[in-house]
Amino acid sequence: MNVICLFDPWKNKMCSCPQKYSLSAYTGCSHNCLYCYASSYIRNFFYPKAKKDFLIKLEKDIKKLPPSSYITMANSSDPYIRLEEKLKLTRQALKILLNFDCKINLVTKSALILRDIDIIQKFKKIVVSITITTLDEKLSKKLEPAASLPKDRLEVIKELSKYINVVCRLDPLIYPLNTNQIKEIISQVKECGAKQIITSTYKAKFDNLKRMCNAFSECKNLWHKLYLKEGQNFGTYFYLNKNLRKNLIEEVRLLALKNHLDFSSCREGFINLNTKNCDGSSFF
Ligand code: SF4
Repeated sequence: MNVICLFDPWKNKMCSCPQKYSLSAYTGCSHNCLYCYASSYIRNFFYPKAKKDFLIKLEKDIKKLPPSSYITMANSSDPYIRLEEKLKLTRQALKILLNFDCKINLVTKSALILRDIDIIQKFKKIVVSITITTLDEKLSKKLEPAASLPKDRLEVIKELSKYINVVCRLDPLIYPLNTNQIKEIISQVKECGAKQIITSTYKAKFDNLKRMCNAFSECKNLWHKLYLKEGQNFGTYFYLNKNLRKNLIEEVRLLALKNHLDFSSCREGFINLNTKNCDGSSFF
């Protein structure tokens, strides 16, 4: 089995990304985000495993890619999960990729990425996406129990921005849990050096909605109403209704532009609001 695969948005018509590839050393993720979408299609998702012969397969796969391919690490995991501290497969992968003509996007919620700053800054074409959903530590610990705390993620943006382009994924917007923090998050990430805000609203799937409702029982009725009764259904996803989504996305856009940041929404159907692609690829 290949470890570099063509990115597959599962035929989602709202995905506007240009062609890119996915690479992850791990199957599953230990950050345990309650809202995670990937957990519904990967068995034992929250008990991640390293891929068998990952580095050997990577050496083979990378030679088959067209020059200047765009590779995202990772789309259905995080390159800096707990296992990475010990196994260092992401670090080894970056060392291999450095020898090839490719563009890299690292997407993470972990401050462990700073360990690899020595390699990251050697890439000519790299962008790092740091996800920040809240500045509230208590909320963060509940929503994303094993990811780094918001203050540590801000520190990552600050540090990496000294060397490379960093974007912030304010993602997902979970009405009403974090939608009152949009202004403060954007202002702080701007201060730390982020260049772009990428955002999307929380999409309910049966498994993540169950986890969210168990953890935030006070929101259960509201979410059932907004998503299951009044929302829009696309395949296995339940979206908020279009007006509510558009209002939230436009609010983020306005604040991003006010702060002189680029903006894009991801899989929302509002591509006309974007000033750049939603996957960091516009930096190259
Ligand atoms: S970091 Fe991403 S892949 Fe990992 S649990 Fe959270 S949402 Fe899922």
